[in-house]
This record gives sequence, structure tokens and C-alpha cells, in this order.
Amino acid sequence: MYTLWYGGKIRTMVQEADSAEAVVTNQGYIEAVGRESELRSRYGDHVSEEIHINGVLYPGFVDSHLHVVGHGEKLLQLDVSGVKSLDELKVLLQQKANETPPGSWITAEGFNENLYEGSRVPDKYFLDQITTSHPVMVTRVCRHAMTVNSYALEAAGVDASTVSPEGGRIERSEEGEPTGYIHDQAQELIRGILPEKSRDDVKLAMQTALTDLHRNGFTGGHTEDLFYYRSPKETLELFYELIHDEQRFRADLLVHHEALDEVLAYEAEHPYVKLNTVKIFADGALGGRTALLSSPYDDAPGVQGVAIHSQEEMDALVKRARKAGMGAAVHVIGDAALEMALHAVETYPAPPGTRDRFIHLQVTRPDLRKRMQRLPLVLDIQPQFTASDFPWVIERLGRARMKDAFAWKTLLREGLLCAGGSDAPIEPVNPLLGLHAAVTRRKPEERHQGWYPEEALTPFEAVQLFTHGSAQAVVKEERAGIIAPGYEADFTVLSGDLFTLDPDRWLELHVEQTVVAGAVMYSRREN
Ligand SMILES: [Zn+2]
Repeated sequence: MYTLWYGGKIRTMVQEADSAEAVVTNQGYIEAVGRESELRSRYGDHVSEEIHINGVLYPGFVDSHLHVVGHGEKLLQLDVSGVKSLDELKVLLQQKANETPPGSWITAEGFNENLYEGSRVPDKYFLDQITTSHPVMVTRVCRHAMTVNSYALEAAGVDASTVSPEGGRIERSEEGEPTGYIHDQAQELIRGILPEKSRDDVKLAMQTALTDLHRNGFTGGHTEDLFYYRSPKETLELFYELIHDEQRFRADLLVHHEALDEVLAYEAEHPYVKLNTVKIFADGALGGRTALLSSPYDDAPGVQGVAIHSQEEMDALVKRARKAGMGAAVHVIGDAALEMALHAVETYPAPPGTRDRFIHLQVTRPDLRKRMQRLPLVLDIQPQFTASDFPWVIERLGRARMKDAFAWKTLLREGLLCAGGSDAPIEPVNPLLGLHAAVTRRKPEERHQGWYPEEALTPFEAVQLFTHGSAQAVVKEERAGIIAPGYEADFTVLSGDLFTLDPDRWLELHVEQTVVAGAVMYSRREN
């Protein structure tokens, strides 16, 4: 039986200028696209359902790199970063205490004493007024410090006799008692006693994330989670359990190489959840100068970053992925890390029908891009990093290297396949933020021409990253990523047209509907 989607504009994303009035779907796939009157006369009585689209319909948005469970955990944490007074902070923590069983942890994120009267830190004397029957931990907005109450200090065995660990500091009263305010490495004394997550904790985080992803217009995501919780098997089974016909979400799972054997043993047929590639880290990140560069950081002579594996190890890990018939997904931020990853995938080529993916690609080089052009490879870029990492990244890399850094337009112009993601929970998951950053190369509240504006993408290219590009990353661009007959009926409906609105107005748009395999998973009017 056929469903007719009508009453808005369809951006097919086949060509930039293409649009249509209506779509007919059947059994999860697109049957026809065209003018409403034409489709009505062609399908007539066979249409059993008509759905009014309240805006502009795009191919379903897919985040090509995120961590679903981590995103849910972030949403579940009590976020106090918007709190502007100690009174307000007290109210929020008190509410949390009232709904938390005694003895269980209360954790919150993001206090900033600079916003409070007298810049007073909410130390243990403050927190003890809220509760003495729960351990409480509130991390500072910078994550380099936290405060805890007396219950937590006691549970961690931190008292007047505790020496501050190397690289950390325990603040003390005049009597030498810890005040609960703890810096850097000393935070590990507390983190080390946090209870292990239960299966229900992971399940709740995953469910919370899936609901939020639908609300943000996502019909799918390429997610890496399996190595970080209780067991790869358990996390995999939670994906299989929580995603089903009533809660459709196309989850392509990246499998950390250390989780691979266990995950393969429990892989099952599932309509929406698939194993994708083997995740390998080549280097760290630019912020902490651990991204691996071929020449030293501009602001740290002699420092070139960190290789997570030797070349031999990296090659062996890729070889292992090949044995499982899988592509590799390599985290590469610096150009020297990219070179190592290239060596590995050139030595052990991707099996036919698969593609490798390199993730982040913040610093490349012309010679390395040439080598990438010859490979079955998709580059997972996170446009939001451009908004977040400038201008400090220029100091790290130096101006001379910037022409090859965050150079998204260059990658596309040279024919490399690119997909767009958020890396949530590192960046917010909202796709409008990623799209905005891709075309403006600045934060939404800034008003300059963008960082290296010659690398800005067009709105069409930006949307392609999250549609056609994400489809290429999992080798299904023949079935997903555009609105055309035979393609999966996955739609993201926004309240306005990204191709006619000023990008600075995009963030005012709403997700109206999220549709996966022909079924509405989210509708703003019903929420
Ligand atoms: Zn990531």
C-alpha cells in the first residue's frame, strides 16, 4: 500500500536546483517523486495514507561520526553551565537529591564561580548544606577541576593526611582539611570510586540519545561505542534490542579493534543495525598537542605529537580488519598520522565492496591527498570543529600549514569523498550547527567572513555531507542519500529551505518530521 507525502517542498538533492512537490513511498522505499497532481492521478486509489509535510523535505540526515551512548550520557548529566548564582545551583542540586536514593551519586557538570556573587566556589561546606546522605560531585566548566561534598571525600578516603598527587592539587582550609575543591590529576581520587555503569545505565543513555537524535532530524548515525562500556557484547545487544520497527534508526557501528573478536562472535542479522568498519586510533588531538605532525608544532618547538601505534602495529591492525572482511576507520588528525594510516591501507587494501574511512583529517598535505584519491576511501569531517578550534589552532599549526588544515573545500574539489558528522558528545549533535559551520566557518554568534573562507562549502555541498556523503561512507549511495525511486524512504523535514534562507537564519529552523523507512519517528506537531 502506498503513502503520499505532499504539501511542502521536496529537495531531492539529486541536483542542486531540483525540487518536487510530492513523494510516494511503499514498504520503506521511495516509489515515485514528482508533481502532486501527477502522482495523485497515477496512484489514485492505491494510496492508503496521506501525510502532510510541514516544510521542506530532504533525504534523511545521517551523522557520519558520533558516539550515541556518550551523547545520551551527556544529556542525562545535570548541566549547570547556565547557572548564574549559588542560590540557583543549590535549587538544582536539591531537586536532584530529592529524586536520588540515599547513597547514590549526584553528579553535575559545568559550574563556573566567575558567574557567582563574590566568585565563591561551591565547596564542600556549600554542598553539605544540600545533602549529607549522597556523594556529590560537580565538575567545573573547564573540566580541570571539581568540587565534592564531605560524603564523597570520605568515600574516596581523602582527608587532612592525603597528599596531593603529582599533577594535581587538593585545596585545604586553614586547619589543613580538604575543602572539596580539587584540581587536575587529584580528580582521579574521586573518579576512581565512581560506580561502574550498570546495563540499565547504558540502556537509558542509549534510549535518551535515540530520542534526541530523532528530535534533531537524524534518521541514522555511524557510531562508535562498543569498547567503552561493560562489554562489547552487551552494548551491541542493546543496539539490537532498542532499535526495532517502532524505533527505527539506521545505526552503522564502528567496532574498536579491541572489541572486534567479541563483537563478531555476537553479530546478528538486524534490519537497522549493521557492523561497519574497524576503529583504530592513529594519533591524539591538536588541543593537547598530541595530534601527530610531520614537523613540530609552531607553539611548542620539538613537539610533534603522539603515535598511538607503531607503523608495524597499525599495519597489523588493518590486516586484522581485512581478515574479518571489513574496512578500517582510522582516527587521523595530524598529517604524519594520515601518512601512517595510508601506509597501512595501501599495504592491506580494502576488500572489494567496502571502503575505508579516515576520521577528522584536520591537517593533510597535497602528496597525501593524491594518494587518498586512488583509494576506496571516505573522509569523515566535523565542520563544527572549524567553529570551535579557531583561532587557537593557528598558533598550534602556524600560518604556513593552514592552507592544508580544516580544508574541506579542497578535499571536495580534489574529488575526495567526504561525509559530515558532529563527533557528539564532543560537539552538539544538532545538524544545523554542522551545516552552518560548513558554510560560514565561524560560530553562529560571530559576524566575520569566516576562518579561511575560501574553504567554505555551498549549502548544497554541506547538506550532501550529511546525506549522500554519509551514504557513501557505508557504501550504500545506490540506495540512500537522495530522494529518487528505489531509494530508502528516509526523510528529514525542516521548517524552511536551507537553499534560500541566509545561513544565519538556519538555526531558527525546526525539525518538523523525521521519517525512517517510511515511518514517522518524530513529528514536532505531536510533541
Ligand atoms: Zn569520535
